[in-house]
Amino acid sequence: MNPARLLLVLPCYNEEAILHHTYGTLKGYYAGIKASGLIHEDSRICFVNDGSRDRTWTMIEEISQADPTVIGVKLSRNFGHQSAILAGLEHHVDDFDCFITLDADLQDDIHAMTAMLEKHREGAMIVYGVRNDRTSDSWFKRVTAESFYTIMQKMGVPVVFNHADFRLMDRRVLRELGNFREINLFLRGIVPLVGFQSEKVFYKRLDRMAGETKYPVRKMVLFAWNGITSFSTFPMRLVLYFGFFNFLVAMVIFAYILGSYLFGFTVPGWTSTMLPITFFSGSNMMALGLIGEYIGKIYEEVKARPRYIIEKIVHE
Ligand code: UDP
Ligand code: MG
Repeated sequence: MNPARLLLVLPCYNEEAILHHTYGTLKGYYAGIKASGLIHEDSRICFVNDGSRDRTWTMIEEISQADPTVIGVKLSRNFGHQSAILAGLEHHVDDFDCFITLDADLQDDIHAMTAMLEKHREGAMIVYGVRNDRTSDSWFKRVTAESFYTIMQKMGVPVVFNHADFRLMDRRVLRELGNFREINLFLRGIVPLVGFQSEKVFYKRLDRMAGETKYPVRKMVLFAWNGITSFSTFPMRLVLYFGFFNFLVAMVIFAYILGSYLFGFTVPGWTSTMLPITFFSGSNMMALGLIGEYIGKIYEEVKARPRYIIEKIVHE
């Protein structure tokens, strides 16, 4: 099989402290895998500037002007990690055979790319980079990340445990990914939905060498919440369950109030106040949940995900 033309896509947001180091390291690595015949001469590195406020873009421009194998992409503003990755990928879908996405801080072991490329050569269409060790993370990040993956899986989203956005995708996969037209694209959830043969490669994640994380707690929570709500209407269904439960409780209280009235244990006015309150709050809550169900359906439709993907047709 011919060496693959590889595009490496790195989203960059305020990465001036580390960009030169990243570029230098990748350049050296590329030279090695090119020499070993694993990737084609036409392989490229693409830095996507995601609306950085520091000198990141100027640096990317300088690097790409000096080195024709480096592509710089500039987004008009900060769109977020996921969109930055997608921009770099989609823009080049016709020009390369396979694509690897990688964070600009090189926390993910770039040497895992060799194994990814080998698996691709053997026929894998998607290769997930999976961390087999989280010791470089804080206790807090470890616990929150673990629970995130567990909740996602429990809700039926086929996320790959401990896989972030370090992955190889064949151009074929990327083409299909283009049919998922949702605004809040959560790649970790969507990519497994595309299907095709996929493999995993394990690696140890390192500490960030310079600069600081662009995912403070607030963004982490937002990211997780986005992931959950773009994949499941379960939170909404909870309202329905809760409403139904409330309704049942209201019925019991209802009977109690009515009984008290009939047996004359009440003061005037109490029954006529309490009955409507319990009845209507119970039924309101249930109705709200029911409406939620329908909004959920609309929401599924509005996303207009593709209904199926044809991999192959025999005897066409
Ligand atoms: N990033 C981005 N846009 C953002 C936030 C982050 O392109 O709005 C990039 C960032 O430059 C890095 C990657 O996404 O290459 C992952 O970010 P970071 O390393 O800060 O996240 P962490 O590893 O701490 O989860
Ligand atoms: Mg990082």
